[in-house]
Amino acid sequence: MTDPSTSHRPLDGKNIIITGAGSGIGAATARMAAAKGASVAVVDLDSRHAEMVTAEINGSGGTAVALTTDVSQEAEVQRMVDAAVQSFGRIHGIVNNAGVIVTRSLVDTSLEEWDRCMNVNARGVFLGCKYAVKHFLEHKIKGAIVNTGSISALTGQMGQSAYAASKGAIVQLTRQVAVEYAATGIRCNSVGPGSVRSAVLDSFLSSQEDPQAAEIALAKTHPVNRIGSAEEVAGANCFLLSDEASFITGSNLQVDGGYTAA
Ligand code: ADP
Repeated sequence: MTDPSTSHRPLDGKNIIITGAGSGIGAATARMAAAKGASVAVVDLDSRHAEMVTAEINGSGGTAVALTTDVSQEAEVQRMVDAAVQSFGRIHGIVNNAGVIVTRSLVDTSLEEWDRCMNVNARGVFLGCKYAVKHFLEHKIKGAIVNTGSISALTGQMGQSAYAASKGAIVQLTRQVAVEYAATGIRCNSVGPGSVRSAVLDSFLSSQEDPQAAEIALAKTHPVNRIGSAEEVAGANCFLLSDEASFITGSNLQVDGGYTAA
């Protein structure tokens, strides 16, 4: 496995669902979680990508299954949890990471674009939390949930009304789930990536007039003066999934190169 800390396997024996795991942060989290000992359900709307990541993990000594799911559809999320349970017996964690971005000014954002952002990002995380918690409660599992937030959940950005609103909803839902189920031992946290190399970022940059200049300008908005990597976010996800984070619930961990601190 590529993870440098393979000898340290804090996710040994844990079965974890990761949505949006066909690319970017989700794929990096699936690879890293597997390297740290977890069996992973690699979930994506894009079956081909989910299968590629799954094959890569299984080919390097890990354990993964691919699942095709639209996280915005309740029946599909229910089926996703059932299928993961069928493969692994029990689920100990979920990373609700599947997401879409719309980059448009408020007045140019259509209702369809607003709904798409809210349905995949906010509703998708709600459904992932709901069916994971149901499973945890049913089997008395002290499960861990990690939801993908964003710098856009906490700060205003140009042209991101729909995306920022959906990410803000995720961070607040995270606190809600954490408080509602804290007494059962279930933990729920969010991780807020800054600009990270991914398909979402690439689509944002290519929508700009000069993509290269936009990337340099974007890097400069982070005090570390660079864009992050998916692996740097995956590390935070894996930590929060592990028992090393046993006293952490309801928190939002920004992995943003100092963006929100500045
Ligand atoms: P990031 O690196 O921030 O995760 P990506 O665009 O690389 O950004 O990854 C987002 C993933 O979410 C993609 O693999 C995409 O196919 C997936 N995705 C988008 N919409 C849905 C959906 N409705 N259900 C499941 N997965 C989805």
